Amino acid sequence: METTFNKRKIEGKTAVVVGGGISGASVCYALSQRKIKTILLESESSPATQASGNPIGVVYPFLTKHKTKESEFSYLAYRYFLELWEALDLGIHVPHKDGIHFLLETSSAYDRYSNAIKSHQIPADTVLIKKEKHSNFDSLYFQKGKAISPIALTKELLRLANPELKFNSPLLRWQPSETNGKNPDDGTLICQTETESISANYLFLTQGYQFTNDPKLRWIPMKQVRGQIANIPGSICKNETSILYGDYITAELNGERVLGASFDEFHLEKEPRTKETIMMWEGLQKHLANVISEDQAIDLKNFGTRVSYRTQSQDRHPVVGKLPNVSELDTTVKYQNLFRKNGKPFQIPYFESVGILNGLGSRGLTHALLAGEILVNQITNQTLDNSQLTMEIPEHIIQSLKPDRFLLRMWKRDQLT
Ligand SMILES: Cc1cc2nc3c(=O)[nH]c(=O)nc-3n(C[C@H](O)[C@H](O)[C@H](O)COP(=O)(O)OP(=O)(O)OC[C@H]3O[C@@H](n4cnc5c(N)ncnc54)[C@H](O)[C@@H]3O)c2cc1C
Repeated sequence: METTFNKRKIEGKTAVVVGGGISGASVCYALSQRKIKTILLESESSPATQASGNPIGVVYPFLTKHKTKESEFSYLAYRYFLELWEALDLGIHVPHKDGIHFLLETSSAYDRYSNAIKSHQIPADTVLIKKEKHSNFDSLYFQKGKAISPIALTKELLRLANPELKFNSPLLRWQPSETNGKNPDDGTLICQTETESISANYLFLTQGYQFTNDPKLRWIPMKQVRGQIANIPGSICKNETSILYGDYITAELNGERVLGASFDEFHLEKEPRTKETIMMWEGLQKHLANVISEDQAIDLKNFGTRVSYRTQSQDRHPVVGKLPNVSELDTTVKYQNLFRKNGKPFQIPYFESVGILNGLGSRGLTHALLAGEILVNQITNQTLDNSQLTMEIPEHIIQSLKPDRFLLRMWKRDQLT
């Protein structure tokens, strides 16, 4: 794709991306569109081994009755996902099945979501209210919503972006370089792995729940949330599209389906819980008895299980933006007195060329591509004139994603120590 941005500004610049999940791959893709040399550091020996490593995930937007910043972002991200999906022919390489039914089992759910369609002005070729045939409930039907392989999607984005891949290379620490880019050959940052120091002009942090290993990120109120899924033989169920009813049963991909997903922010053990698989199976029987094939002998012990961890921010909105440098704040000054100090407007100190993309919660597959584009645009200051991004991203949505919101909120509450 041809781009017409200021090439001189980025010539010879290097970006380091930390984390090879869907977030890191999305950032790599956005960097590749700006032709910025990119190095991807991943702790593990291959991409998508953590949250992005489930066999199947579902892609559809989060909607609320009236527009909220979360629903606006989610719907935009969904549209962006579908635009890229088509423009890049992702369906050739990424196993997928189109069609998501989101069941409206109560009249209040029907009211909420029929209003959501109106308030978000969603056209009928994107979502319809339609009977789901196995349950006979009305449902929001996202015709182009997808069950996909998150691993294949991550790998395909990396193949398209073609960064220099460094597996088994956890980032240990990073800091601004002493010369701070004053020598033409130096970057502004030094990234340290076990075996080398990498000089970079831009750094993108997408470590998922392991963000707590980075002392410069620990102040951000995000937490690790355990999730368990069951993967079951495809023949056990009959549904051709994915169906969501609180939990979800996916369409069949490569002979299997995923029944998911549990949510526990308090107990985080890695071992699968048999009880959770039973509860999810009973939930499926209760909501969707008719999708279960009659002629199948079912032994829950034969279900595969996988435990992984989402990262969720305090307000459940993703964290996407330039990283504030909290160590440069004088927190002995009360937030309430900030704006009076010398009468000058208060400026948040940032690590100017460091961005974070995290806190994607349960919607990372839907949200990561747009979040990556927004972040790279912000950090490199390079808007693509000829972008695949045909939609406008309202400034209030970009602002709402920034980590700054927590900094100000926590300062106000004297929680920044
Ligand atoms: C059970 C479950 C079911 C889900 N289902 C869905 C779904 O159906 N649809 C959907 O949209 N979303 C779903 N999600 C959410 C989605 O999976 C996540 O939001 C998304 O995968 C997060 O991607 P990520 O790249 O931010 O994190 P991760 O995939 O965890 O990637 C982070 C990467 O960083 C690496 N890393 C960490 N520290 C370092 C370091 N110091 N140096 C180098 N590398 C490092 C890790 O090894 C890892 O590969 C689900 C999540 C769970 C837990």
